[in-house]
Amino acid sequence: MVGMRIADVQEDIDHELITKTQIEDIINHAAAQASEDYRGRNPLLVCVLKGAVNTIAAFAQAMSIPVQMDFMSLSSYGSGTESSGTVTVRQDLSTDVRGRHVLIVEDIIDSGITLAWLVDELKRRGAASVEIFALLEKPARRKVNVDVKYKGYEIPDEFVVGFGLDYDEHYRNLDSIAVLKPAVYQGGQA
Ligand code: 5GP
Ligand code: MG
Ligand code: MG
Repeated sequence: MVGMRIADVQEDIDHELITKTQIEDIINHAAAQASEDYRGRNPLLVCVLKGAVNTIAAFAQAMSIPVQMDFMSLSSYGSGTESSGTVTVRQDLSTDVRGRHVLIVEDIIDSGITLAWLVDELKRRGAASVEIFALLEKPARRKVNVDVKYKGYEIPDEFVVGFGLDYDEHYRNLDSIAVLKPAVYQGGQA
């Protein structure tokens, strides 16, 4: 067997939420649509590290037009499971976004605070357009409005890990998306 699956971390996982196949299907669908929309526009895919790394890799691979990619590290979370509400740039893009058509590729929108900040920031830097693909959204937790052009799956208000998403740097290489047992992040024994 290749890859880390639910069975490999069974003791920490409450249940699987989105399968590997479902992840692939929604990314392929969004990437096909984006390929049509951005044809001839040389889009810049922007990834917010680290959670969206798996998503941008799969998304870019599924696109049928030339794209560029850049990476940015933002901080709105500590090691906990709640946004602190303050966004700081830990590591900036190396690309000048002026005049560029930017497509932000995100893992998950929770409060929306991080993304709303990033959209404003990229527009402030002079991007010609800024759109979003988000693999996951938690509508129940939205605090700030952001327009998501390419939608993934809506999920309930539960803390998830896998396919790039971590809890305290663990579970990023899980090949599907799962709900962690609360005991894991409440400091108890899972
Ligand atoms: P927001 O600013 O929308 O509240 O939070 C965005 C970021 O918080 C996401 O990109 C992700 O890194 C992290 N986040 C939000 N919800 C979850 C979750 O359920 N699981 C994990 N692992 N990270 C999350
Ligand atoms: Mg993210
Ligand atoms: Mg994280």
